[in-house]
Amino acid sequence: MPPLAPTIRLPHGADMPRLGLGTWPMDDAEAERAVAQAIELGYRSVDTAYAYGNERGVGRGLHASGVAREELFVTSKLNADWHGVDKVGEAYDMSLEKLGLDYLDLFLIHWPNPWLDRYVDAYRGLVRLLEDGRVRAIGVSNFTPAHLDRILAATDVAPDVDQIELDPTRTRAAARAYHAEHGIVTESYSPLGQGSDLLRQPAIVGLAEARGRTPAQVVLRWHLQLGLVTIPKSTRPERMRENLDVFDFELTDDEMGALSALDRGEVDVADPESFGH
Ligand code: NDP
Repeated sequence: MPPLAPTIRLPHGADMPRLGLGTWPMDDAEAERAVAQAIELGYRSVDTAYAYGNERGVGRGLHASGVAREELFVTSKLNADWHGVDKVGEAYDMSLEKLGLDYLDLFLIHWPNPWLDRYVDAYRGLVRLLEDGRVRAIGVSNFTPAHLDRILAATDVAPDVDQIELDPTRTRAAARAYHAEHGIVTESYSPLGQGSDLLRQPAIVGLAEARGRTPAQVVLRWHLQLGLVTIPKSTRPERMRENLDVFDFELTDDEMGALSALDRGEVDVADPESFGH
């Protein structure tokens, strides 16, 4: 079994594994199987969301693993229908009930849905959960620096995490710089390019061959060496193992640079201003 992923201390004190399992798009049955297998292989962090419709399956997988709750790190996300100071608690209880848990490690606002203009209220609701000691860390997802400016101005409480779409072709330099300035941890979703041709790009394949590693492993190493937390998804145990087995080698500065040179800017990034509208 590969060693457990190292953790990073989040601003509000929780320790989050640097690499966890993504669970979109798994249904309940797939999620149950994948989560239990992943934990057996050494994963300790799992990412789900109300919108994935698989929180019950994820919960069953967590319980089947037999690993103590305090050794696991569970993230879920709030849907737009519950963007309201008081509604957040309702959504939180609903996620807990489905997962069969009595707390989450991290609760995120899934998308800002700015046309509703309620994400600041949703964030106030998250801050309340944190202050009440009901959740260990709070955060956002798909928030741009402009969205973050608004929640910081309104609450003066920085989120622990902003989970954003990020891979070597979408390096999100401006977002990462903003996060660094405000002490927010950047979490990369779709880190392997979501099944696109990313892992077949010659620069990545060449580097992987030279290092005797797989394309996925060199890409995940790139995420880790940028200081990110990341959550690759797989339903296949051999790939889950491969994706976790990335803590015993290091890319050189030149190799990091060669991967970052694949950046195409923001062209292929889902637009948080309109997503879900
Ligand atoms: P990923 O970049 O993790 O890619 C997943 C795809 O890569 C799947 O097709 C998987 O196939 C394949 N794959 C996994 N490991 C390997 C490997 N070692 N070699 C080759 N192919 C591999 O994309 P996701 O979009 O799933 O992102 C990860 C997670 O991020 C999601 O599961 C979800 O939890 C989260 N997310 C969050 C969003 C948000 O709005 N906050 C939006 C999208 C995702 P297979 O399963 O067959 O192995």
